[in-house]
Amino acid sequence: MKTILDMLPTASDPHHGVKEWKDYTGDLRERCEVLVVGSGPGGAVVAKELAEKGHDVILLEEGAPMGRHDFRQESGEAMQRLLREGGSRASRGNIVTPTMQAVVLGGGSVVNSAICARPPAWIFDKWTERTGTSLTREDLDPHFDRVEAQLGVAPTPEEVQGERNLRFKRGCEALGMSVEPIWRNVQGCKGSGECFTGCRNGAKKSVDVSYVPAAIRAGARVFTSVRVEEVVADGRRATGVRGRIVEPFTRKVHGHVRFDADLVVLAAGCMATPVLLQKSDLCGACGWVGRDLRFHPGLAIMAMFPDPIDPWKGATQGYHSLQYLEEGLKFEVLWSPPSVLATRMPGVGLAYQQHLLRYDHLAPFDVICAADRSSGTVRARPGSLDPDIEYHFDQADVDLMQKGLGILSDICWAAGAEAILPGIHGLPEIISRKEDAEVIRTHRLKASDTIAAANHAFCSTRMSPSARLGVVDESGRCHDLDNLYIADTGIFAASSGVNPMLLCMALADRIAETIDGRL
Ligand SMILES: Cc1cc2nc3c(=O)[nH]c(=O)nc-3n(C[C@H](O)[C@H](O)[C@H](O)COP(=O)(O)OP(=O)(O)OC[C@H]3O[C@@H](n4cnc5c(N)ncnc54)[C@H](O)[C@@H]3O)c2cc1C
Ligand code: SF4
Repeated sequence: MKTILDMLPTASDPHHGVKEWKDYTGDLRERCEVLVVGSGPGGAVVAKELAEKGHDVILLEEGAPMGRHDFRQESGEAMQRLLREGGSRASRGNIVTPTMQAVVLGGGSVVNSAICARPPAWIFDKWTERTGTSLTREDLDPHFDRVEAQLGVAPTPEEVQGERNLRFKRGCEALGMSVEPIWRNVQGCKGSGECFTGCRNGAKKSVDVSYVPAAIRAGARVFTSVRVEEVVADGRRATGVRGRIVEPFTRKVHGHVRFDADLVVLAAGCMATPVLLQKSDLCGACGWVGRDLRFHPGLAIMAMFPDPIDPWKGATQGYHSLQYLEEGLKFEVLWSPPSVLATRMPGVGLAYQQHLLRYDHLAPFDVICAADRSSGTVRARPGSLDPDIEYHFDQADVDLMQKGLGILSDICWAAGAEAILPGIHGLPEIISRKEDAEVIRTHRLKASDTIAAANHAFCSTRMSPSARLGVVDESGRCHDLDNLYIADTGIFAASSGVNPMLLCMALADRIAETIDGRL
């Protein structure tokens, strides 16, 4: 006879108990005390924390539970399976910016590099200047502590850094720049550099294998293959959501769902939450739903070394430099699957082939920019839940990025590169002498010359104590509805300066604490 223990997730089967489309026999109708939409870093934290406090929690997710045996190394297939719009989502505006959002149990934590960084205290002063928040780093420190402990966050050890990361470190040190091993939510990382296509070693503590199983063990019910299409409200109260059962990958629709709840938390991510609010005609009074979208645009330079460095070996992102963080620049080592990196190689035909042949000598180093003067909008596309994203990369931020590219070039040369591939329109495809690289600083760079990607996105439902200046208050509660909360990166009042996941989770932990106090 089966006992309750047979229904619970274990270390070897972390998704045990997670329901998916095959488990549903028809339309779904459920009710609970707290309904959480989206199982990424924000939603998973809220679900686990409130379930552990004894609340009746349901967590909804459109994507599938993907185990280590489901991950594919081939990037085309991996992106189709794990990312919205197959990974081809991009903003329009004065620059076309690729921006990736996951559709899988665990959200972005399944495809990301596991970088966990606490923003410095001054970041929150910038939030105050912008929307009047009074939140401080001190307020959040206990929440950072709790999340880091749950995820086992620790600095990347030297043994799994690999030559690619070590060369970056060497370059920064030679220039006298600060450089430190990146803190990551991994345990037993083997340095396979495959974080983007999913950790086949089971080392990454993405929230689907950490927070979600803990939520289930505490009694939460988790329904995947459920696409929420509308938040239902009555006056100042959200009463639940409506949507459909959607089969992963094929997107075949299998039935309708209706979930009723005393309290609803939206954590569908910075692009999806504003679209849901717009489609539901909610929280529009302040005018900030889907407005003020912020990115961290990032650009990479490829360093070409005289000797083979086998760049595929080593933690996906093992070292970073925070030396210029206060100016709005962060420098990191980067890695992604060969076929993705190959799209950044210059040339055609034989010249392109020559670069590919030197693949084992190449290391991508990147700079991400706080881009405080640039912003965009997220709007619901008619007949679709995919967002229409517009973004304007301000020339002052392009200039700052250009400064960053100059420093990045210096890091490459100081690391021992014999040539660099800048990957910027209007610049030589390959630069073989350090003196010639000055053009990276002197060329007048425009937004459209850059090929920036932006996987850090926030502020689309920003936080402010004033109902005129933001969508949610500092507890994450929507100004317009008494029982609707948002717990994804959309609530940031401005840039996080550093990589956003840990801040999103600390805020979610704080939101869960507040909700518990109010229920
Ligand atoms: C390739 C990549 C690398 C990154 N690397 C890092 C890193 O190393 N460190 C870091 O700090 N940050 C990193 N980031 C950013 C980080 O992953 C995100 O900021 C983070 O995942 C945001 O969490 P979230 O909960 O706000 O949203 P998400 O992670 O986007 O989660 C939202 C969830 O809601 C679900 N959902 C959306 N709409 C619906 C709907 N209508 N119905 C049901 N479910 C829905 C989605 O499928 C998704 O699972 C990276 C991002 C990418 C794409
Ligand atoms: S580097 Fe490899 S082993 Fe380490 S967390 Fe990423 S995918 Fe897993």
